[in-house]
Amino acid sequence: MATAAATLLLLLFLTAAASAWEMNIRLPTEMLNGGEAVVAPVIHALRPLLGSGGQLAARAGVACDSWRLGVEAHNVIGWKTVPARCEGYVGHYMLGGHYRRDSAVVVDEAVAYAESLQLAGNGKEIWVFDIDETSLSNLPYYAKHGFGATLYNDTSFREYVAEGSAPALPETRRLYRRLLQLGVKPVFLTGRTEDQRNITVTNLRRQGYSGWMELLLKPAVHAAGELQGSAVAYKSGERQKLEDAGFTIVGNIGDQWSDILGTPEGARTFKLPDPMYYIG
Ligand SMILES: [Mg+2]
Repeated sequence: MATAAATLLLLLFLTAAASAWEMNIRLPTEMLNGGEAVVAPVIHALRPLLGSGGQLAARAGVACDSWRLGVEAHNVIGWKTVPARCEGYVGHYMLGGHYRRDSAVVVDEAVAYAESLQLAGNGKEIWVFDIDETSLSNLPYYAKHGFGATLYNDTSFREYVAEGSAPALPETRRLYRRLLQLGVKPVFLTGRTEDQRNITVTNLRRQGYSGWMELLLKPAVHAAGELQGSAVAYKSGERQKLEDAGFTIVGNIGDQWSDILGTPEGARTFKLPDPMYYIG
């Protein structure tokens, strides 16, 4: 009798254990099929769900996802290249949907903010847009250059820009169009130089951007091949000129901290993800 009870208890335990195990395995799979962000409500018994968090974490002192978070939070600054061990991680991040989802979160917030504004409608309310990795994506270039794991090459990047083939970042274009509907005027403020103006205008138009108030580019490259000053100084200086001219910067969006640091930043700033390069 005692043996029968023990056997029954053992069977109950095994059944419970089996269903718990099944839940651990099945739940994340169902979420993946739904196409939604993978946020597993249980600690997976086997391994992290995303390859980006698993193998790479074990390979180096700092996992690549932690490195990327450090970059986005502006704790990791002044870096020249993506760490070599993270090339695959960044590539998967950029191409695998995660980047687009992160960008959509930023733009959803920006649209909600813009729609909440009590706008004066006086034609003086503007929104500052960066161009590279904000309005246009240079992913086709960076995919061929190690997703930022190889040192920036100004010559080859300029050749790519000269093609005028960069696709729009669809999330940013969605914000851009909504702002036009709301009566907020877009202003492009970019580290691209004046000699790239024509092709930049062509590229923006090809990708569905129109109706901007201004396109502000840096002066052409100096004789020494270098531009003077930091991106923060240049961009905040240009924003100051806009405010001095009577415009109100209701929003400012870019992929670099140097797009959104420096007075006047704008009433609200939005930082898009960019783990491929750093501009200080
Ligand atoms: Mg940019």
